[in-house]
Amino acid sequence: MSVTSKGFPLFLTFDVDAETMWTARDAAYAKRPILMSQGAYGWKVGVPRVLALLARHEVKATFFVPGVVALAHPDMVRSIVDHGHEVAHHSHTHRWIVNLTPEEEREEMELGMDALVRTAGYRPRGWRSPAAEFSEITLDLIREYGFDYSSNFFDDDSPYLLEIGGRSTDIVELPFRWVLDDAPFFQYSIVLPGRTMQSPSAVLEAWKREFDLLYAEDRMMMLGMHPEIIGQPSRLYVLDEMIRYAKAHERVWIDRCDVITDDIRPRLRSAA
Ligand SMILES: [Zn+2]
Repeated sequence: MSVTSKGFPLFLTFDVDAETMWTARDAAYAKRPILMSQGAYGWKVGVPRVLALLARHEVKATFFVPGVVALAHPDMVRSIVDHGHEVAHHSHTHRWIVNLTPEEEREEMELGMDALVRTAGYRPRGWRSPAAEFSEITLDLIREYGFDYSSNFFDDDSPYLLEIGGRSTDIVELPFRWVLDDAPFFQYSIVLPGRTMQSPSAVLEAWKREFDLLYAEDRMMMLGMHPEIIGQPSRLYVLDEMIRYAKAHERVWIDRCDVITDDIRPRLRSAA
């Protein structure tokens, strides 16, 4: 049985890290204008280009936006909302959770929430960790802040209900894996030694083969991308082709995380 009422879910998600992709690694990077400009490409060029592509394909997506990026670019957030996409929580400054005190982590949650309520006009329903890591208090914070879904864990190819402290919750986990992320393939910088860029065809090949088996097994597919990376012309081609490929399959449902979560949750509950 399919995990949703409308077939196989393909989630297109975009982490709008922008400059925080660098300042989260080292605050001193804020003084390196060329490095920072690699992040600025996201809000300047990447987001409008991705929005245009999604509009051409008539599909809806989810954008995880750090609070400081939302506050610096409220027009971008409005544009995402006006196009009918979802805005979700991606911390405030994108600082890596493993380096934070519990107080700082709570502050990241609170400030990021305020920033999105102010710019998107509603409380975000989903949360994705910066740099894919949790602390001992993260799960409790997700529950306390009332999120409906999380897209963080790497342990499954199907959605499931999160367990917190040994008890199952109503929070839907939409898992993810690095091979479904654009950054490991494409992110290149002088401050990340050892990285090489992959060709678009190699990434398209990986994502199509992922899709084939996930679709055959009636699971789900969670693509995690960054507008400053996937929004570059040769990479946008990969996304464009991937959407075309998926749409050529009859049981595919491409939509926002919150919309699909609302469909999945009762099915997971009754299966539990
Ligand atoms: Zn991020």
